[in-house]
Amino acid sequence: MRKAYPALPVSIFTTLIFSVLLVAQQQESRSISAATPILGFTAAHATAEHKLETEFQAIPSSEKAREWHRTFTAEPHPAASERNNQLADFIADEWRKQGWEDVTLRRYEVLHSRPRSVSLEMTAPVHYTATLREDPVDVDPDTKNRAVSGAYFGYSASGDVTAEVVYAHSGNPEDYDLLLKNGISVKGKIVLVRYSNPYSYRGFKALTAEREGAAALLIYSDPAEDGYARGKAFPDGPWGPESHIQRGAITYDYIVPGDPTTPGWASVPGAKHIPPEEARSLPKIPALPLSWRDAKPLLENMNGPEAPKDWRGALRVTYRLTGGVTAHVKVDMDSSLQPYTVAEARIRGSELPDEWVLVGNHRDAWVFGGVDPSSGTASMMELTRALGEMRQRGIRPRRTVIACSWDGEEYALTGSTEWGEQFADDLKKKLVAYLNVDESVAGAATTAGPDGLSFSPAAVASLAPMLVEASKDALAPSGKWLYEAWRATSKRDAKASQPPLDSGLVETRIGSGSDHTVFLNHLGRPVMNLGFSGDYGVYHSMYDDHYWMSHIGDPSFEYHVALTRIWGLVALRLANADVLPYDFGSNGVALDRFLRELELKNKIDSHKLKLKKLHELITEFQKAGSELREAVAKGLASGGASSEKMERLNQQLLLVESNWLDPGGIPGRPWFQHLLYASRYTYAHLEFPGLTEAVEKGDWKLASEQEALIERALVKNIELLRTAKGSWEKNN
Ligand SMILES: [Zn+2]
Repeated sequence: MRKAYPALPVSIFTTLIFSVLLVAQQQESRSISAATPILGFTAAHATAEHKLETEFQAIPSSEKAREWHRTFTAEPHPAASERNNQLADFIADEWRKQGWEDVTLRRYEVLHSRPRSVSLEMTAPVHYTATLREDPVDVDPDTKNRAVSGAYFGYSASGDVTAEVVYAHSGNPEDYDLLLKNGISVKGKIVLVRYSNPYSYRGFKALTAEREGAAALLIYSDPAEDGYARGKAFPDGPWGPESHIQRGAITYDYIVPGDPTTPGWASVPGAKHIPPEEARSLPKIPALPLSWRDAKPLLENMNGPEAPKDWRGALRVTYRLTGGVTAHVKVDMDSSLQPYTVAEARIRGSELPDEWVLVGNHRDAWVFGGVDPSSGTASMMELTRALGEMRQRGIRPRRTVIACSWDGEEYALTGSTEWGEQFADDLKKKLVAYLNVDESVAGAATTAGPDGLSFSPAAVASLAPMLVEASKDALAPSGKWLYEAWRATSKRDAKASQPPLDSGLVETRIGSGSDHTVFLNHLGRPVMNLGFSGDYGVYHSMYDDHYWMSHIGDPSFEYHVALTRIWGLVALRLANADVLPYDFGSNGVALDRFLRELELKNKIDSHKLKLKKLHELITEFQKAGSELREAVAKGLASGGASSEKMERLNQQLLLVESNWLDPGGIPGRPWFQHLLYASRYTYAHLEFPGLTEAVEKGDWKLASEQEALIERALVKNIELLRTAKGSWEKNN
């Protein structure tokens, strides 16, 4: 799963030029000075770390990444399918061969959802039967695979509806307001909406349609968003052809993710399940995704009022709001408990086995998963191969590194959520960070050129500086430093005259839509998402496959390897650091920015809500964080700190992120316990979630209660950082 369609890089390079440049650049720049300091390392350990990282970076291979990718994308592998379960066994076997330890398959019994039969017909003014299928393409034999599913949405309700069709633009609340202004109600009607203008998660469109009283929902891909209006369509380019279908789940997992019938606890065999009728995350509306080819007859046969200008897409029809079109939608879903499998393995830490660095990627795909998620899976298998090989050469990380292959991410972030709930107590104490990769390469290198895809990570602000630092030592696809490529694409994407400062490179606002959610929002652990992005219009369709990746996305597979390298460097630094490289000064700067944005956007005046104290505490937190960072740097440089002292400090640092949790959760969504981070119902990022939602509702009493909770957490963390600094500086 992922989010929107990113903006477009432009220059055109052929694969050939790309490969020639690649070789030339690789020869030119490769050495890292062993004397360069690393955040959280003593000078001696930084030297050793650089050596080990150079060794690590030489292992991942683009040819191997290509082979992994071919294996994972050979057949459709949605959650609960036989193929996806076989791939869990395959990964476990490979991890054993690669030298990983404690390889385990974790089984969950989860309420799953799959189609028995679906159909859509236009019944008036003319008859049309939607194909709900994608066309095969001769150059790509995978598209002829008979195991490819048709159109469906995970967790759609079953239903049989014949009604008038209304076009509701993007299906967001303001779109229904506009329809009402035009005297059009959607009650009892079939609502047709497009995917992305602006983007909102399809599960938000379903809830909105349900609230508006619609009887059924159709969501189609307009070529303005991901088709011919953006550029060449598959198989000639990265964008979606006329029959491509964006499958997906419409679960309300922004309320509570995971198995809808075990909210807040793990679906281990024998666990209690609530009745599906009581599940807050299950939609009650039947819904289907459509290609634009299947949506076009519905749109072009309407005879009512013309749609406003910004509601018009790129189809050559007159977009209208409604009028004269009726349709028959039938959705029959099978809901039953099915086994999901999380594959897990570890390399036990040599010195601190009870501190964990977790890397993970989901395995299940809507169809072949060329980008989503098998690009990430290929990058992960190269990461585990490299770390396993290092272990066999006798190089073991100081902390334990755990790798997980999640299941059912596409349905409700399910595998990671159940696993996180099952091991919550341990994770809260031991997890240093979760490093998630969903799609490692979601863009077209053939249109973006060498290093032209955007490196687009998101991380909690306390991890942002160490990520930037690691990028200075990580190799980019061209063989140059990733840091340079990152600055260049950031400058281009922002249409700026200068690259951003280091402090502005990492996106520190984090929404939902992937497996980091449970670790951040429920367990209060630091997280990071890594990936490259660019032109990509076949998301969740059959065309998101090996052909797309090997001819259009990443023909050289060098982006896959570049992602493995930065992922591994971050993991190794977190696993080997003397002092955990969290930067709470940087965290404070981000909080200050989040609060100012909240005030500005909502024009909060001080007799409604007093935020002065909160500002002051954030400033104090930032100061305490920066002072601790300086003290640690000084102590590490002088080399005087004992390992006991460093470990005492690490234990204190691990607590900071946990202190942002409020066990009561945010109002209305008790599973989301982080006071600083949650996601909106659209999956968009949401900072200070409880406070922000109260402010947006104008509920000032609730807002000040929520504000008080953040104050309390800040006071606790300021105290913690000061105490930590005090004991660190003693006899240092
Ligand atoms: Zn995904």
